[in-house]
Amino acid sequence: MTSAHDPLAPPAVDRFGTPGTAAATRVMLLGSGELGKEVTIALQRFGVEVVAVDRYDGAPAHQVAHRSHTIDMTDGDEVRRVVELERPDVVLPEIEAIATAALADLESEGVTRVVPTARAVQLTMDREGIRRLAAEEVGLPTSRYAFAGSLEELRDACDEVGYPCLVKPTMSSSGKGQSSLHGPDDVDAAWAYAQEGARVAGARVIVESFVDFEYEITLLTVRSVDPETGEIRTDFCEPIGHAQERGDYVESWQPQAMTQDAYDSARSVAARITGALGGVGVFGVELFVKGVDVYFSEVSPRPHDTGLVTMRSQVLSEFEMHARAVLGLPVVTTMASPGASAVIYGGSDGEGVGFEGLAAALAVPEADVRLFGKPTAGEFRRMGVAVATAEDVDAARGRAREAAAQIRVVQ
Ligand code: AMP
Repeated sequence: MTSAHDPLAPPAVDRFGTPGTAAATRVMLLGSGELGKEVTIALQRFGVEVVAVDRYDGAPAHQVAHRSHTIDMTDGDEVRRVVELERPDVVLPEIEAIATAALADLESEGVTRVVPTARAVQLTMDREGIRRLAAEEVGLPTSRYAFAGSLEELRDACDEVGYPCLVKPTMSSSGKGQSSLHGPDDVDAAWAYAQEGARVAGARVIVESFVDFEYEITLLTVRSVDPETGEIRTDFCEPIGHAQERGDYVESWQPQAMTQDAYDSARSVAARITGALGGVGVFGVELFVKGVDVYFSEVSPRPHDTGLVTMRSQVLSEFEMHARAVLGLPVVTTMASPGASAVIYGGSDGEGVGFEGLAAALAVPEADVRLFGKPTAGEFRRMGVAVATAEDVDAARGRAREAAAQIRVVQ
């Protein structure tokens, strides 16, 4: 645990309102996916009034919030309109593609509080912002990297970083527009693919040297108000290991076995980057581990998809920890049991799909399933997740996979 005074720390809330009244404690989610749905449920358990916002109707958190709005969240005027209409005490950005400049204005005008901070949300939505902060200001070990804004610059950047390397749009997440390059012949295709996968046209890209890691982890790191001192403290969960396909997580487990030295380095890296970002809440710090070397990759200033496993494996899930931390309440990061999660994909495109096999999935010992209720399915769209516990991680992974495999998506 580390402690530091932070002017953006929320006051410890000692009075919670009643939802639906003028005295409500109100939280707005910008982004209403499956992670936001769980955060909404966790907040509502404390009687918080939740307003869920997304770009499409019927998003997972829309279905459980007190009120919902559908807007273009990349449009700053729209974001301001909905915040001024609802006057939330706190705004929780749940996705990266939002008008962060408008959030920064609303925060500095004192209209609302942005979690963890508007600056942290701005820095982490842009791979260039967070990489420069991590490597150049905080001094964390990362892959070698360079940035490029055109095909010509990309050629030079790849030569500078060396092959093999990865090219990613700076404004993208979850492997979108990302390619691996083995030599100069791959540069043209990587540039074209990055432009397709980017959230904006004429996108800048980052070139990263390929880190030949043994395993990668998410270290869930929680900044919360210490009830004894009133200062911000930093706590860490047991490391979460995960497997990725197409740049997207398919399976996660907790704990990932690590040497004490590697775990100590991981916590140090996580404390330093989350301290530099500031504010309170859960952060998903993504790290690559090779022997005792730990490389910083990315950080989400919010619960992380690989952390879905904590719904079973921890005393408090990452969603419950986030809800508590943003309200100025104390958290517990204790693991209850080794656990695992396995993603359930849509398998093909469809509207209003059905799910069969839930009874069989829940018959797997210590397994549970979440179906997110997304109105539209896609081949690799995450429609649900299976989670399970067991004596050890291998058995938990087997159970989570078995439970996920029982679920059939039908048209
Ligand atoms: P990202 O979209 O940056 O989270 O990357 C998705 C996944 O690609 C990561 O979880 C890693 O498995 C892999 N990856 C990304 N960057 C690198 C790198 N520099 N070296 C090796 N693998 C990487």
